[in-house]
Amino acid sequence: MIDEKLLKLANECEIELKDIYDNVEDISMYNSLKVLNVFKNNNISTNHFYTTTGYGYNDLGRDTIENVYKDVFKCEDALVRSQFISGTHAITVCLFALLRPSDTLLSISGKPYDTLDEVIGIRDNNSSLKSFNINYEQIDLLNDDFDYKKIEERLSNSFVKVIEIQRSKGYSTRKSISIDKVEKVIKLIKRVSPNTIVMIDNCYCEFVSKKEPTEVGADIVVGSLIKNLGAGITSNGAYICGRKDLIHLCSERLNVPGEAKEVGPSMNMNKDILLGLFLSPNVVKEALKTSIFTSKILEKLGYSVEPKWNDERVDIVQNIIFNDKDKLIKYCQGIQSASPIDSNVIPIPWDMPGYDDEVIMASGSFTQGSSIELSCDGPIREPYIAYQQGALTYQYGKIGVLKAISMLEK
Ligand SMILES: *Cc1c(COP(=O)(O)O)cnc(C)c1O
Repeated sequence: MIDEKLLKLANECEIELKDIYDNVEDISMYNSLKVLNVFKNNNISTNHFYTTTGYGYNDLGRDTIENVYKDVFKCEDALVRSQFISGTHAITVCLFALLRPSDTLLSISGKPYDTLDEVIGIRDNNSSLKSFNINYEQIDLLNDDFDYKKIEERLSNSFVKVIEIQRSKGYSTRKSISIDKVEKVIKLIKRVSPNTIVMIDNCYCEFVSKKEPTEVGADIVVGSLIKNLGAGITSNGAYICGRKDLIHLCSERLNVPGEAKEVGPSMNMNKDILLGLFLSPNVVKEALKTSIFTSKILEKLGYSVEPKWNDERVDIVQNIIFNDKDKLIKYCQGIQSASPIDSNVIPIPWDMPGYDDEVIMASGSFTQGSSIELSCDGPIREPYIAYQQGALTYQYGKIGVLKAISMLEK
């Protein structure tokens, strides 16, 4: 099925990657211990698997899951709900919860994720933050780090209600932002403007490092359950973790003013949310190893990649810069053909809601759009970058990548 020469090259890569893989194992061990301790401290039992329907009053499992998330993120409170459609939805709820007319939202990591364009009002929409007279400003990154000087100047000028930091690169060409950089910039923000809320889009970054942003001063963090923390088990939802007063605002925006976290049926999701979190340190490790392997082997084959195999990893995303439309499409088609679900479907570029350019998406996943499962996508624009992420096991990840490479070389 896979060419002998390619298998030999894969083996060579793995030998050279041994130390890097060992480091990923070490982080996974650390995060596994963190999760297990939190389960123990919260006395998780099968009682927490029972569910509620309807209004969802007194959902013991749901409330306990939120305590578990609070403890994993070492913060005051959490909102972990299947009523969030996606990461974008949770970010949207968070922004609308925290901002009021005439307030300012400032992004300091450049333009946010494409699906937020209409939420913020960068692209016109009658339901955007802009339509409620909420201002948006942006400071771009400078050489893949924060523009500390500009940020300080802006904060000294007039009050900014919310600063958003998106750690993972989204569909941009910049590097993703490490926890150390997040810590450094939060120190600056809190020194100059202590009342500014720092909100982090943490998508794809959970459990890649030993610390989460709430451990280095972030007020609120948001992420998706069909990415890292769901481990392919949780079939929808998102989380918001952070300061208690802010989580309260988010819960009233998601649910109903006056009802906050008291409502929201778990609809049989509790066991899957707990199992997903439990498996996540390992699944994130498998996905990371797949990304590192991809980087190494494609570099050896002469492709440009970002990050490099020996760069520090911040998220699970691997870029391959094809500079060639056909190659991008072929590679994605190769990933799809090695997927467990819909392997006979041939993905083609299409106009996805929420995105500016046409996008090609390979995602033969058990959960629709789940990108902790091996998936690969990219906007059809220069320089034709594939954004590959996920793999529930390293073995399936490796097979997928080798199949996609075979398609390329045809
Ligand atoms: C995936 C992602 C989101 C949210 O995407 P959804 O598909 O709506 O869950 C937001 N920001 C970043 C950086 C992401 O990677």
